[in-house]
Amino acid sequence: MASTIPKARIAFFDFTCCEGCQLAVADALQTHLDLLEAVEIVNFREVMSEKSDDYMIAFVEGSCTRMSDEARLKVIRENAQILVALGACAHIGGVNAIRTGLDIAGVRRYVYGEKAMFFETDSARPIDAVVPVDAYIPGCPIDLDEFVRTVKALLLGRIPILHDYPVCVECKMKENVCLYTIDKTCLGPITRAGCGAICPTFGVGCEGCRGLISNPNIRSLKEVFSENGFDEKTLMEKMKIFLSYQTMESES
Ligand code: SF4
Ligand code: SF4
Ligand code: SF4
Repeated sequence: MASTIPKARIAFFDFTCCEGCQLAVADALQTHLDLLEAVEIVNFREVMSEKSDDYMIAFVEGSCTRMSDEARLKVIRENAQILVALGACAHIGGVNAIRTGLDIAGVRRYVYGEKAMFFETDSARPIDAVVPVDAYIPGCPIDLDEFVRTVKALLLGRIPILHDYPVCVECKMKENVCLYTIDKTCLGPITRAGCGAICPTFGVGCEGCRGLISNPNIRSLKEVFSENGFDEKTLMEKMKIFLSYQTMESES
């Protein structure tokens, strides 16, 4: 009788986010049935109601924005052999981290008005600010193929390593016209590659959703902004969208 190889048990969890990365996962699974043959999904609130705490790989989407998130995240970490940050919110704090450095009580009042006291919303942090993370799938939302590649690598016992060169490299390989030559701005020079420079390829400046490379030359990018008639404030505003948490960390 043919032996049956046990399937890897995988689970998905969401914290503060739009849940778009889980949607991307659901989309990827519909077109990669081979992956569904290799794994058993035991927790995935967006697509099923069954739940189990017995899993090998946990994919965590969303950032930590409440003190109560920490205890929940630590339990997931304890249960999982491998923990993966899924998407920009989990990887770098994402757009939630726009409030980094602001008066949180004021932010809460602005959003919730007279009901502010009922919400424990705090500063937004990536999940590795709370627990160790084994692997990352960057992006807002994640790239479907990168998700599939990551799962396959993990099942083979490998931890995928992220590209550590800027989006500009991929943009040049596509022979795109640089957006700075047509009076647009772009964070490609400081942003981690891996998306195939999809935004510049379609004429839209990179907003940094895959996070900063290890040694971003922000001073040089300021000069590029200045040479092209954009001021430093414009750069800082652009970097706030996805890079607030990483910028704060690099300055501390
Ligand atoms: S990274 Fe973007 S798409 Fe994914 S959950 Fe966060 S906001 Fe949504
Ligand atoms: S368009 Fe952006 S990513 Fe492309 S080369 Fe110019 S700065 Fe780099
Ligand atoms: S070009 Fe920039 S903003 Fe667009 S997907 Fe790539 S990293 Fe994200």
